[in-house]
Amino acid sequence: MTTWAILPAAGIGRRMRAKIPKQYLNVNGRPIIATSLARIGALSYVEKLVVMLNPDDKVWPTLGLDAHPKVECREGGENRYQSVLNGLHYLADFAQQDDWILVHDAARPCVRLSDIDKLFRCLRDHPIGGLLGVPVDNTLKLTDQDSNVIKTIDRINVWSALTPQVFRFGILLEALEAVDKSQKTVTDEATAVENLGYQPQMIHGNRDNIKITQPQDLSLAEQILSSQALEE
Ligand code: C5P
Repeated sequence: MTTWAILPAAGIGRRMRAKIPKQYLNVNGRPIIATSLARIGALSYVEKLVVMLNPDDKVWPTLGLDAHPKVECREGGENRYQSVLNGLHYLADFAQQDDWILVHDAARPCVRLSDIDKLFRCLRDHPIGGLLGVPVDNTLKLTDQDSNVIKTIDRINVWSALTPQVFRFGILLEALEAVDKSQKTVTDEATAVENLGYQPQMIHGNRDNIKITQPQDLSLAEQILSSQALEE
């Protein structure tokens, strides 16, 4: 069985309000995507790493990151799920139905290799796949559009979904093609797989695997990467 990786990096990062897409901003002197790619690229069992890029991307070619022997670049889509689906269509020439597909956001440079190893260890014989997540700590409120609280949501067994998310190739392809046909969207792979009636396995990950989204996340990521470097 083979493991393939897809790194969705075709977003423009509107919420970051920066001049370039957020994955190209520097954290600790290095573009975010370079750190994410180095971490996934360090997994010896990943056969190929497909980076999904925006068709208008002018920064990627300047970074030299495709010199990595396992890296391939392909065009992403309008939504994150479409970017991942494009990656699966590319991999269809190589991948078998039961192969693992690891999907990791380019905007999560702080993922720990020990968490990814744990994910694969826990999923070894799993027929579907699963994802890293962290239990929700805060009390959860549902509001209306004017921010009036409608109700409090029980947080027992509620998790925040992170990446990597790892699924069998055949199931993930079927799941994302079904999303595409339905003309609805999903914000992660697990939702698409759940829509088929499957139950992905949740694996407890580390809270420091943040997705860089807002400007203040940049300094947080710097602190996390510095403290991880001290742990090594
Ligand atoms: O926008 P968000 O932070 O949810 O994006 C998560 C990841 O998905 C980012 O790495 C982003 O580049 C990627 N993405 C993509 N194609 C899109 C939108 C987002 O590959 N159309």
